[in-house]
Amino acid sequence: MVRHIQFPSNKYLVRHLITTAPRHSYHSATYYERPGAETMDQKGYISCDFVVDIDADHIPTSCRHNHDYAICKACGAMFQGEKPLKCSECESTKFDKISWICDECLDVSKKQVFNLVENFLLKEFSIPLEDINLYFSGHRGYHVHLKTKEFLDLDQDARREISDYVTGEGFSFKIWDYRKIQNNMMGFSIEDPGWAGKIAKELYNILIQGEPRIIEVFEKPIYGKKLNAVLINNLISNRQYLINQISNKRKIWQVAGLSDKTWIRIFEILRDRIKADIDVVVSIDLHRLIRLEGSLHGKTGFKVMKIKYEDLKDFDPLKDALSFPDNQENTLDIEITAPISPKIRIGSTNYGPYNKGEKLKLPLNTALFLLCKDVAKLK
Ligand SMILES: [Zn+2]
Ligand SMILES: [Zn+2]
Repeated sequence: MVRHIQFPSNKYLVRHLITTAPRHSYHSATYYERPGAETMDQKGYISCDFVVDIDADHIPTSCRHNHDYAICKACGAMFQGEKPLKCSECESTKFDKISWICDECLDVSKKQVFNLVENFLLKEFSIPLEDINLYFSGHRGYHVHLKTKEFLDLDQDARREISDYVTGEGFSFKIWDYRKIQNNMMGFSIEDPGWAGKIAKELYNILIQGEPRIIEVFEKPIYGKKLNAVLINNLISNRQYLINQISNKRKIWQVAGLSDKTWIRIFEILRDRIKADIDVVVSIDLHRLIRLEGSLHGKTGFKVMKIKYEDLKDFDPLKDALSFPDNQENTLDIEITAPISPKIRIGSTNYGPYNKGEKLKLPLNTALFLLCKDVAKLK
């Protein structure tokens, strides 16, 4: 990796990219007095964008079990979904990964961007929309840059606090007036600020949708352990009582058979549904490298591009971020080299799945995608 380069203007940057043609291009999210200095100490730190990375890679999606594969490096055996601890054929623990994208995982990351912007940045942090810069990463996620002065000047501890707030990490549920008073359990009011009110609202929204929804939410939580059937039934049989309590802004949520421990687990499941699923490591790093806007992502050939927030709803990465016109006549000849090349939609056409050794004439965007994914070679 070549680092510590400073360009006097955009023209020099473009010339550098044309002559070197790097597979991946990044810039620093930090502002320095001397960006070209060789060591971090010499650069003279000024400030840093607050960067939020939302990537389907960090979010559990069911589609990855269908379109991701692990290939044993020793014997070539192929495993669908998560990589196993060891190969069942030869016991090797080394694998090559084929990690794919589809509409489902791209939609999951888009939904998380809406959650972050609507429910946290605009509503709770009151950040002006014009200070929120949104980029498609070129692969399966988005970068959100906050350029508000107050955010640029934050140190690492403050960035950690904000990230923890957004992800609902690092605090005790007991600080929100959750306690036992004689036989009464004090929950939260929907009028409470911050997380307490969010939890009350989320529980209410699930309860009013009825029994099947309650079962779905608590039997298949996004993360961690599910609630057992007896406990879910306790919630269901007290459904109307809890709806009345919450809608009347009463904090007493007394349900027989639900212990403190169970309530905490219920709150955790609700928290994981409410939080913005961001990659915290990126947000707290004061020296982060971020993909360069306008460059192509080396694992897809798609454009890293700025998106207006109002255009996000209709943004289709598999169509709008293609680098070349969606032209069926402009083709490349390639050969599949991986044991499997899963199905991919490019533009409005589905391609594949393909098998090893298949020789194909494919439109440029599609061929480029397969080459960048390292599942094919030029013929
Ligand atoms: Zn093997
Ligand atoms: Zn997917």
